[in-house]
Amino acid sequence: MQFKVFEPDIEVNAPTVSAIIAGLGRFTNISRRYLSQVGIGTVVDKKLVLDIDAWYSQDAWLRAFENIANQIGDRLLFNIGMSIPNNARFPSWVTDIESAVRSIDVAYHLNHRKDGVQLFDTETGVMREGIGHYGCEPMEGENEIRSVSNNPYPCAFDRGIITAMAHKFKPDARVVHDDSAECRKNGVDSCTYHVYW
Ligand SMILES: [Zn+2]
Repeated sequence: MQFKVFEPDIEVNAPTVSAIIAGLGRFTNISRRYLSQVGIGTVVDKKLVLDIDAWYSQDAWLRAFENIANQIGDRLLFNIGMSIPNNARFPSWVTDIESAVRSIDVAYHLNHRKDGVQLFDTETGVMREGIGHYGCEPMEGENEIRSVSNNPYPCAFDRGIITAMAHKFKPDARVVHDDSAECRKNGVDSCTYHVYW
C-alpha cells in the first residue's frame, strides 16, 4: 500500500529530501509546509533548512507524500518523481535505457538505511532488504521493459522516476501503468509499469 512503511526504523537521507525540494522548484511554500509539518527540516527565515548529513524517518517522509497526494494530487507527485534523476549522480555502468531503469533500485537502496546501516554497500555490492524494490525486466526481442514497483512510495511518483530515467537515453520512451495489474492505490504492495521505446 502506498505511504505505509514495509519495516520500522527505516530512514531516508537528506540529499534525497533535497532532490524533492528541488523538484518542487518554485513551490517552496509546499515543501516548507508539507515537510516541516512532519518534522523534516526546520524553517528559518521562511526557508526549509536541512542538515545535509541527516537521515530522516521514512514513515514521516511518506506522511508528507500522503498529505501532498491528498491535498494537491497525482500530477505533482509525478512531477516530483520526474525531477529526482536531475539531481542525482549515477554509477558508470548506467549506459543505456535498461541499465538506467535497473539503477533505480540501487539508488533507492543507497539512499535509505535501516538501524543506521545503508541498504546498499557500494564496495561489496550487497543489497539489504526492508524497503522493497524497483524492478527491471527487459522483454526478450522487444523494445520494452516491465518494471514492478514493490515499495511504499506512491504510484504516480514512481511513474515519474521511471519516465525520467528512461528519457535519459530514449527521450521518446513512454511509461504506461499496467491497469490490468494491481495498483498500490488499492491497498496492495506493488504497481506494474511498461516502458516502451
Ligand atoms: Zn499504481
